[in-house]
Amino acid sequence: GISVRDLHLSFGSTKVLTGVNLEIEPGEFFAFLGPSGSGKSTLLRAIAGFGPQPQGQILVGDRNLAGLPPWERNVGMVFQSYALWPHMSVRKNVAFGLVEKKVPTRLIDEKVEAALSLVGLLDYAERMPSQLSGGQQQRVALARTIVTKPDVLLLDEPLSNLDASLRVQMRRELLALQRKLGLTTIFVTHDQEEANTTADRMAVLDQGVVQQVGSPQTLYDHPENLFVAGFLGTAN
Ligand code: ATP
Ligand code: MG
Repeated sequence: GISVRDLHLSFGSTKVLTGVNLEIEPGEFFAFLGPSGSGKSTLLRAIAGFGPQPQGQILVGDRNLAGLPPWERNVGMVFQSYALWPHMSVRKNVAFGLVEKKVPTRLIDEKVEAALSLVGLLDYAERMPSQLSGGQQQRVALARTIVTKPDVLLLDEPLSNLDASLRVQMRRELLALQRKLGLTTIFVTHDQEEANTTADRMAVLDQGVVQQVGSPQTLYDHPENLFVAGFLGTAN
């Protein structure tokens, strides 16, 4: 699991996160919703160690990640644009993080093949990213992240580049993979249906503050304030 305690972050004089608290259980699939500009990506990036460093604590077990460089956090992040290296094969893309971590070469091949097999792309290892569909590129991005066995998986709208039917399929695959690996996951999405059909619990963020946390059902049936009621009632 992961605990975020009283996280504050500003860009210059603009406060973007103003006291975020979250307790996410081990193996939980946790969705994160909120309007554009509410600070969702900023929060994920802060957990992963990118961008300006926040005040507050980010605890995984008894480790405080705040202050550690990204590569010492053991947190995996998948972005909206998959950001694959265009000049590297699928195999090399997935191996990249392991090479950086100086994992022995004979182990890298084994781990890469296991990760590609999990996302159903073992036969595509020697292709270049430009020779893959959007859904396949998204799977490579996932494989590249899970191959490092992160303690926490952060997904920032990973399906938003895909067309509607592929989105639904990838959502199922993503959830199945998350369950199989028991990965503690924070999933940012604009899509309420996506959150409802995947999340164990979800949070709604507004203006850098978590407005409510609970099961999707609880938030719909018992919104705690007008913002949550309005956001879930009217968005989309
Ligand atoms: P979206 O749903 O559109 O992706 P978001 O909830 O992910 O929105 P963030 O990207 O976290 O929002 O941005 C939160 C606020 O921080 C916005 O007002 C944004 O303009 C500001 N912001 C983000 N990155 C920077 C930056 N590098 N410098 C200055 N301000 C920034
Ligand atoms: Mg964002």
